[in-house]
Amino acid sequence: MNIEELGKIKNKALEEHIPIIMDDTLEVIEEYLKDNKPKKILEIGTAVGYSAICFTEFLSEDGIIDTIEREHIRVEEAKENIKKMGLESKINILEGDAVEILPTLDGKYDVIFIDAAKGKYPFFLKESLRMLSKNGIIFADNILYKGYVLSDYNKHKQRTAVRNLREYIKETTENENLDTKILEVGDGLAITKFEKK
Ligand code: SAH
Ligand code: MG
Repeated sequence: MNIEELGKIKNKALEEHIPIIMDDTLEVIEEYLKDNKPKKILEIGTAVGYSAICFTEFLSEDGIIDTIEREHIRVEEAKENIKKMGLESKINILEGDAVEILPTLDGKYDVIFIDAAKGKYPFFLKESLRMLSKNGIIFADNILYKGYVLSDYNKHKQRTAVRNLREYIKETTENENLDTKILEVGDGLAITKFEKK
């Protein structure tokens, strides 16, 4: 991994206020990846490729990341960044709205990282559970959304997002087939696995 180039990609994204994964959130996910060496990762929300690039370090030898992004300009920048890092064979970008793309995917993923439109999290969850391998894991970023989600905050233009994030938490914590933890790292990270029976 070319750490210097990765640092440039990260700094440029931060300068341009692109909401890339926060360091403490990345640490939690990388800890898991290190121990589990996944073969297939699905990411919803590529932005400029920063998190996907970071994850490649912990893929199993023939592992691959599929990542979805709807903004063409970000897809272009992500492709450039991935090329600079020499990771074209490990990251596959799917351009388009995840709401349309997810139903066209099948096959199983060992790790799914949800990091896109907050108002769509319940839909992303449904699609992710369909494609999650038996011992897989789903990480959902921004699940606490600046603390709005666990407060009585309702009068906000983002209330649809807040409502849907609450629904995501409710569904993953109340479903007895799932085991879910919510961590207060970054903007909140939900971690969901199938309940071991
Ligand atoms: N995972 C990235 C950051 C993603 S930011 C990282 O940590 O480096 C969220 C991205 O999701 C944005 O680029 C946004 O354009 C994209 N996005 C939001 N809603 C989407 C949707 N419905 N389908 C596809 N991409 C979406
Ligand atoms: Mg995020």
